[in-house]
Amino acid sequence: MERKEPAWINLNVSDIRITWISKDGTVIFDNESQAEIMENHLERPEIKAAMETGYGESIRNSSTLFQKQVYYAKLLKDGSVVRVSENQMMAISLFLGLIQPIGFAIVIILIMAFVIASSVSKKIVEPINNINLDNPQETKTYSELQPLLTRLSFQQLHLKKDKEELKKTEQIRQEFTANVSHELKTPLHAISGYAELIQRGLVAEEDIKPFASKIYDESIRLNQVVEDVIDLSRLDAGALNLSGEETDLYWVAENAIQSLESFSQEKGVKLTLSGEHAVFNGVTNLLYSIVYNLCDNAIKYNHKGGEVKVNVRNDEKEVLLTVTDTGIGIPEEHLARIFERFYRVDKSHSKEVGGTGLGLSIVKHAVSIQKGEIKVSSDVGEGTTFTVTFPKA
Ligand code: ADP
Repeated sequence: MERKEPAWINLNVSDIRITWISKDGTVIFDNESQAEIMENHLERPEIKAAMETGYGESIRNSSTLFQKQVYYAKLLKDGSVVRVSENQMMAISLFLGLIQPIGFAIVIILIMAFVIASSVSKKIVEPINNINLDNPQETKTYSELQPLLTRLSFQQLHLKKDKEELKKTEQIRQEFTANVSHELKTPLHAISGYAELIQRGLVAEEDIKPFASKIYDESIRLNQVVEDVIDLSRLDAGALNLSGEETDLYWVAENAIQSLESFSQEKGVKLTLSGEHAVFNGVTNLLYSIVYNLCDNAIKYNHKGGEVKVNVRNDEKEVLLTVTDTGIGIPEEHLARIFERFYRVDKSHSKEVGGTGLGLSIVKHAVSIQKGEIKVSSDVGEGTTFTVTFPKA
């Protein structure tokens, strides 16, 4: 059956339910369902109240959890009742309804934040990533980073230097080890060679004595090399632990010269000491080895009838030791290298006179430990002068 719509249905009542109920409770009109099939409304609390007092209202929870139905009923003059009702969302349902759009917004914001953050951080980090670590100063980047780069290149320079130094030290050590082995092997070979010949009976009776003295000389050499190497390694290892004491360099020189007296006589070289007492803070053992080695060389590389003059001077700020000889001299081109370990100007001559090539390197080491300085001047055929200075303070 076609229902005729009343004129007021044009009111915008889309969210409001309107029900018209007759005096006896039957539904006459309802804008949301068919009035004919609706049950009697007489028992509804808002209708009951309206019929008794002219106005009634009630709230009923709907079947779904998040909504409630609010009813207002008003008694009309003819005894019928008009009721309007509205579906009201509860706060929680409002909230639940918002979850989806809020969630959506959050996702969008997160994606945008990620994209923006990653592109911005990439831009910020790029100049830092582009720093040329091998050459930090060359890189063009933030001025704020300049001190860091300066520091970096400074440290790199140090690192490079340290590395080079380490390499050099390692190389020197390797060379030294090889040299020591060689220096030990040579006399040992000679000793075992001579001994073997004698043992096999290959040496004539009258030659045994000279062979024995060769063996003796070589063993002395061997001993000398070992002693020098031990001295050097002691200086290398314990250099920093050596503490100075009040020492008179003149007294030390006197002692060293005394020990060399018989050697100088044997060589026909006149050895003399002059100068003054010079007390300062030094290491006696090292000073002794300095004077001894310099004088030993001055006698070794001298002529028969030659002279070695040792002088000690006590200046205001320093103590001076000079060892002058009238010996063979050192050619100019060798002067810079004679302090190197195992360096000899004339290898065969040096061996002949019992040199190890270590004497001057021990001297230089001992001088530098005491913060002194050593200088050499020489004229070939005329002689050599070594000058050592020690600061007094
Ligand atoms: P060595 O044990 O061979 O004497 P040194 O280290 O004491 O080694 O000296 C190195 C080299 O310097 C010597 O081999 C020698 O050629 C030269 N030399 C040192 N002192 C003198 C000197 N007073 N006169 C001439 N040459 C010297």
